[in-house]
Amino acid sequence: MLTQNLGYPRIGGQRQLKKACESYWSGKTGLDELNQAARTIREENWQTQLKAGINLIPCNDFSYYDQVLDMSLLLGVIPQRYAPVSNVKGNSETDLYFAMARGYQRDGLDITAMEMTKWMDTNYHYIVPEFTAKQSFSIFSEKVFNEYTAARQTLGDKAKPVLVGPVSYLLVGKEKEPGFERIDLIKDLVPVYIEIINRLKQQGALWIQLDEPCLALDLSQKDKEAFEYAYRAIAGQVSGVELLVATYFEALLDNTRLAVNLPVSALHIDLVRAPEQLDEVLALIPAHLQLSLGVADGRNVWKNDYEKSLALISKAVAKLGSDRVIIAPSCSLLHSPIDLDLETAIDPEIKNWMAFAKQKLHEVAELKQIAEGNQALLEANKKAIESRRTSQKVHKQEVKDRVAAITDADATRKSAFPVRQQLHRERFNLPAFPTTTIGSFPQTDDIRQLRAKLRKGDLSPEQYEKAIEDATVEVIRWQEELGIDVLVHGEFERNDMVEYFGEQLDGFLFTKNGWVQSYGSRCVKPPVIYGDVSRPRDMTVRWITFAAQQTPKPMKGMLTGPVTILQWSFVRDDQPRDITTNQIALAIRDEVVALEKAGIGIIQIDEAAIREGLPLRKAKRPHYLDWAVKAFRVTASGVQDRTQIHTHMCYSEFNDIIEHIAAMDADVITIETSRSQMELLHAFSHFEYPNEIGPGVYDIHSPRVPGREEMVSLLTKAADLLPAQNLWVNPDCGLKTRKWPETKAALENMVQAAKQAREQI
Ligand code: GLN
Ligand code: ZN
Repeated sequence: MLTQNLGYPRIGGQRQLKKACESYWSGKTGLDELNQAARTIREENWQTQLKAGINLIPCNDFSYYDQVLDMSLLLGVIPQRYAPVSNVKGNSETDLYFAMARGYQRDGLDITAMEMTKWMDTNYHYIVPEFTAKQSFSIFSEKVFNEYTAARQTLGDKAKPVLVGPVSYLLVGKEKEPGFERIDLIKDLVPVYIEIINRLKQQGALWIQLDEPCLALDLSQKDKEAFEYAYRAIAGQVSGVELLVATYFEALLDNTRLAVNLPVSALHIDLVRAPEQLDEVLALIPAHLQLSLGVADGRNVWKNDYEKSLALISKAVAKLGSDRVIIAPSCSLLHSPIDLDLETAIDPEIKNWMAFAKQKLHEVAELKQIAEGNQALLEANKKAIESRRTSQKVHKQEVKDRVAAITDADATRKSAFPVRQQLHRERFNLPAFPTTTIGSFPQTDDIRQLRAKLRKGDLSPEQYEKAIEDATVEVIRWQEELGIDVLVHGEFERNDMVEYFGEQLDGFLFTKNGWVQSYGSRCVKPPVIYGDVSRPRDMTVRWITFAAQQTPKPMKGMLTGPVTILQWSFVRDDQPRDITTNQIALAIRDEVVALEKAGIGIIQIDEAAIREGLPLRKAKRPHYLDWAVKAFRVTASGVQDRTQIHTHMCYSEFNDIIEHIAAMDADVITIETSRSQMELLHAFSHFEYPNEIGPGVYDIHSPRVPGREEMVSLLTKAADLLPAQNLWVNPDCGLKTRKWPETKAALENMVQAAKQAREQI
């Protein structure tokens, strides 16, 4: 029986890669320092995996920015617009690479970056390959060959180069001109893969891993044929090296027959996300194929339940024999934090239930030893699992009872929207096209410094609160002067829209070093939900009521919704996600009610991540949308009809989920639309969306200041699609990341645009 790993985090335990890249980008250090930092991280990662006793250890899983962008460079898929970057004297391949990732504004050039999007259903973002109709492919970058050479020196035969497989590489990309389908490029692409594989083989590689996550997605007939074609063609021209196709994040389902019959040596399947797929895979597996069992969760922070994993391993061994079974994490460990040993402040009882990337490697190695007879290793694991199963830190009977008792009435406002709308009109007496913002105002260095000083003890809690109050008052005065209709308090007291609530709720913990790469040098440190969630005390009431007292105008209360809190945290794996979400929903509902009681008439519940949580497979989406929408409704429905509930979503593409968005029944929804020139509103228009809506008229993702006329014209378009009396005027999203001068100028124009709309539309 072999063990393997599919990929290891590359940011370094102290985020060394982030620091090295940012220093290189700013010109403080040169290429030699950058390369040296990278070599050190790679070497350390290989040593860690070697020490853990892993048999097949990945290389080329390292990347300066993104492994999909690495593939584009390897295959020579470099959009024409970057050609001038290479012509600049002194520029290296690395500069070209970073230009593609981040854009290039130097040497008289101004070239935009390539598009970036989420990798499957993770929070990792990759750089989307761009294809043209006449796309050609040829080996451009030597990175994979160089990394294999280095890996071989350290790891010998254990070194296993990792590539994104040819079909997934095409499918995750985009056509950049009309008249062709990218999947048809497979015939031109495969010969280059053959050349790469043969070169690696000549260098000594015994195994090569080809990541094909798309095998676990809904595929068209053409996509399926591309898989068959590509792997048959590769098998025809490659021999003497074992190819492993890796799938993850979903079950193979209707692609099982296709996947097990690819002419390769081994197939990896994700048994954490989809343990049920093992039976079907074992039923269909042909006699030669080896099976890699992904049993340690690469997407979460929990200790593996060995008994559960061993049941799967034994089943596979019984059918295949141990020499055809490989034990592995479910997916690349890129999506896990690196090392639990670095966490010195976590409650030891809870820490004993957890595992980060380094610990997961040991789990894989131990599972193999137990499967081969070393039963003694099982005992400690059993104890930890049992302690978590019964701990009072996790289980709060009153929370469970309350979730079990949720009724449809709890998820329904007292009266239908038209009744509520009438009450809101009478109560708030807002003009047509009312103006508002999404919640946050610029988090300048001064504000962030306040928190740092509080942490260090340089500011007392009283001094900190006073400084935040001052910033809040200032932003309220400014909104009043500007003539905004519904004010916000600015969110200066919040570090982050999820962390702020997690820190105040029971059932959450925070790590010191649990960083996970989000894109390029950006890392996130998600909270960990370990136990039943409850709300020991008010969370926002103090700040919102303070703000409300400063002005006669309506002050909007600002909360994060349950699905977004779930989605941006590491979640429990010992109960279904919908139950955890409902626990959070009840906690936030109590906060909504507390705000109402404190006299706040308008409350916004942000659900930025509802769409992001959508399952990869279409068949699973209705169930998810049902519980996600219901959780929002539970959060929003504890209030009187006269209270106005807003929600905000900051992504595009509502076409396929518009009926569910409508079912949330928020009195007002604000969405991101300005970049698409209101095109996203078509979904709302076709559906005859009945409630009020604020389509963003100002793109906050760029420092550019939109003019008044531009915003009036967007509002005119919106009014063509939806009843004008239901429209609000607001930016696309929160203004946290913007600077003050552009924010002021843009909002001044926005208020003027609303005034003009009131006269003209
Ligand atoms: N209220 C939050 C803010 O204004 C919303 C942010 C978001 O949707 N991402 O920052
Ligand atoms: Zn947003």
